[in-house]
Amino acid sequence: MLDVLQAPDYQRVKSVVRGIHAEFGITEPPVNPVEISRSKGVSVVFVEFSGEANRISGFFDFEENMIYVNKHEFPLRQTFTVAHELGHALLHQDWAASEQYKILLRDSGYDGTDVYEKEANAFAAHLLVPRFMLDKYWRGNSVESLSKLFAVSVPMIKNRLAFEYGV
Ligand SMILES: [Zn+2]
Repeated sequence: MLDVLQAPDYQRVKSVVRGIHAEFGITEPPVNPVEISRSKGVSVVFVEFSGEANRISGFFDFEENMIYVNKHEFPLRQTFTVAHELGHALLHQDWAASEQYKILLRDSGYDGTDVYEKEANAFAAHLLVPRFMLDKYWRGNSVESLSKLFAVSVPMIKNRLAFEYGV
């Protein structure tokens, strides 16, 4: 019986992320979620989604242990997608066995209304733009240069700065 998450467990998310940074000796941006996924045994493939499915950014297939990414999205968006789906892969194995599993296959919104989506978004944010790296670089750098440095979108940098420093 699945113990359905009622609220996001951000401490657990951050702890898993810290473990990954330590395991792979990641101390400087940019963080490459594709390399991390593959090292964790999670395949990443860039594919063409046809028709209706073309609005999907990506999804994680628990049975194949594989992340599918829309090959037509912008590279920075793909980076986020891979990190987000890796979050599902590492945090939500139990969920795979549940009836909610199919929701993942239609993972197109990343709107963060669902507990699991919130956790996957937090996972991606802390994985790609960890506080300890931001501490080193955020002062004196524009959001545009931070976006380049961390290889994430400007909105993501803005979100991280607001979250960590309230700016
Ligand atoms: Zn998701």
